[in-house]
Amino acid sequence: MAKAIKTIRQPLSYQPAHSSYFAATKDLFNHVAAFYFEVITLHEKVLDLSNKEALTALEKLTHTTKDNPHPAMPLSSAITADIPALFRRAAIHVALGSAHSFSTHLEKWRKQKEKARARGKKFTIRPPVPPHSWNRSVTLYAGQWKGRTAKSILLKLWTGGSWAWIKCRIQGQDIPDGWDVDSPTLVQDGHQWKLHTALQKKFSAPGKVEHQVTSHSETRICSIDLNITKHLAVCTILTVEGTVVATRFIEGGKQLHGLRKRQLGRIARNRSKTGMIAEGEQDNAALWAKIRALDEDSAHQVSHRIVEFAQQHQASVLVFEHLGHFKPQKGKYSKRGNEKRSYWLRGKTFKYTKYKAWNEGILTCRVSPRNTSRDCARCGALVARYDAGKPAEGYTPGAPLVFCSACQMRGHSDRNASMVIGKRLLARYQQPFSQEKPQAPLATERSTKVGGVSGSQVAKGKGRLSTNHARHGARNAQGTAQDTVLRTSNSVSGIAHQLRLFNES
Ligand SMILES: [Zn+2]
Repeated sequence: MAKAIKTIRQPLSYQPAHSSYFAATKDLFNHVAAFYFEVITLHEKVLDLSNKEALTALEKLTHTTKDNPHPAMPLSSAITADIPALFRRAAIHVALGSAHSFSTHLEKWRKQKEKARARGKKFTIRPPVPPHSWNRSVTLYAGQWKGRTAKSILLKLWTGGSWAWIKCRIQGQDIPDGWDVDSPTLVQDGHQWKLHTALQKKFSAPGKVEHQVTSHSETRICSIDLNITKHLAVCTILTVEGTVVATRFIEGGKQLHGLRKRQLGRIARNRSKTGMIAEGEQDNAALWAKIRALDEDSAHQVSHRIVEFAQQHQASVLVFEHLGHFKPQKGKYSKRGNEKRSYWLRGKTFKYTKYKAWNEGILTCRVSPRNTSRDCARCGALVARYDAGKPAEGYTPGAPLVFCSACQMRGHSDRNASMVIGKRLLARYQQPFSQEKPQAPLATERSTKVGGVSGSQVAKGKGRLSTNHARHGARNAQGTAQDTVLRTSNSVSGIAHQLRLFNES
């Protein structure tokens, strides 16, 4: 069985008079958590116990009952409020989590320090410090909430003097069918309070990509080219034979670029006015938050549309290319910063698409990014990339049109790239021996290539040519010939390196 998890975030609405209760409850929760963190620090041994045992041990240390009339560190002496049992347990779990993380960091730091000392080196890294303020969201265990429907919920909140059941209306999306609900969390978002609910779903695991592609002829894959220009994503649905079923262009790149550039420009101007930026302090916090929200939003929208498109066409596998590293170009601060963010956005979009797809039982994989926008999706030869109205020759990065002089293919460059990505995945499983026998260069490139290589390599190349002709023939018979040909024209000179790329992918 496979498991999917996700969180839904629902804004709450309530009477204005009740709004202070939320903050009071959070405050109290953090006080209790801080108290338990303190207790754990004084009784470090509880960290060696399982969570369940630690909970029992900590309650014994702090909770007054008939059987335990004199605990060592009573909670009631530190906090006068009456703490419901499950509110306390939720806080204990938060404290335990923090304490575990702190002790791991401390342990690591000690080891580093020892290592440095053993080598006689100066060690200047400061030790980790325990949290000095607590700002955790309240986990609502059973007993702290009841009567949850799609539209409302009753929450047990601390008013500052007592506990009260408050009815809240729930906005936003409903809990989808078929998902199991975990304990909700009360999260503060500016002046608003939201209910975050973790959901779980179990489903039968989808078959491996290789299995799906090789043994089900009705399998469809959706290949995606992520961009930083006009089209943020171009998706193409392919059958396992490599036939194109549909393509979708997801736009919005230009608007996003423009919006972001304006904010970055503002930041740059503000910075030039103030002259200096305090170290370790975030300047222009509100503007940065705006930019982050903008990117976050786009990544969610684009990923949502990709998965939606794949589902519409019953695709069960998504294919991306591995994303390269960002090489900044010269230019203004706002330009460089903007491009960098566009690159980050691709990574984010990939991440979100992957988990959204998985929740729908769709697998995601990646192929080598090598030349995805320079190869012809139909025959594998190098394409010319050009702007509309210009001659179809040369290679202009970012231009919208491509032309393949080898097979006369004309088309949109991003669409071509998305098809190359998809076919690269199909080729991976259709040519299990490509590792040992790289394909021959295509006729057009062979002439340019041979001149540059040494005699022995030419000889080797020739040997391969004959085997490859035979294999081309075999594939022709299956009717998938041209489309599955990968261009590996440089393989003669750099076999090891490229093959690693091809295989890993
Ligand atoms: Zn071509």
